[in-house]
Amino acid sequence: MTSRDLLTQKLDLLRRLWKAHRKTLTEDQELKHLLISHQRAFEKAQKVMKETGGEAFCARCGREKRSCCGEDMEFHCDDRLLLANLICGVELPTQRTFEKGCYFLGKEGCLLRIRPLICRNFICPELAAFLGTKKIALIQHSLEEEARALFFLEERISCLLAK
Ligand code: SF4
Ligand code: SF4
Repeated sequence: MTSRDLLTQKLDLLRRLWKAHRKTLTEDQELKHLLISHQRAFEKAQKVMKETGGEAFCARCGREKRSCCGEDMEFHCDDRLLLANLICGVELPTQRTFEKGCYFLGKEGCLLRIRPLICRNFICPELAAFLGTKKIALIQHSLEEEARALFFLEERISCLLAK
């Protein structure tokens, strides 16, 4: 079985989960609050990425088609994370935009509003050299709140799926 077959299975399972639990997931008030907290934390971390110059550095890398959002990275997106995106109204792609890119990579960057921590934390050697240790520490610190918010969000989704 190829990784593309696995992805088809993964997306089928996701569709079934969404169909079965959509009402519970979209009506849960606690989950709504957790999604808002995550969004706030995400925006704060994005602000730090912008202020440090990391955002522009990665955007240029993406334009030059050297991005780290490569094929198979989609397997770091677990069902709960993808369900959280569906709750937020994100439309998942029906096909890969770039032959060798992550399934969730669109022309303007990542299509997900809630992204795996590995994607958020990753700093390649070129970016690390550009940022320097002080700015890296700032970015890592800013991501701690988002990591906590993601943990609680996914835990709540697990609880709701088990009901
Ligand atoms: S982390 Fe490195 S490889 Fe990934 S997008 Fe940024 S500059 Fe490019
Ligand atoms: S940031 Fe988005 S597009 Fe990039 S590897 Fe992660 S999930 Fe895929």
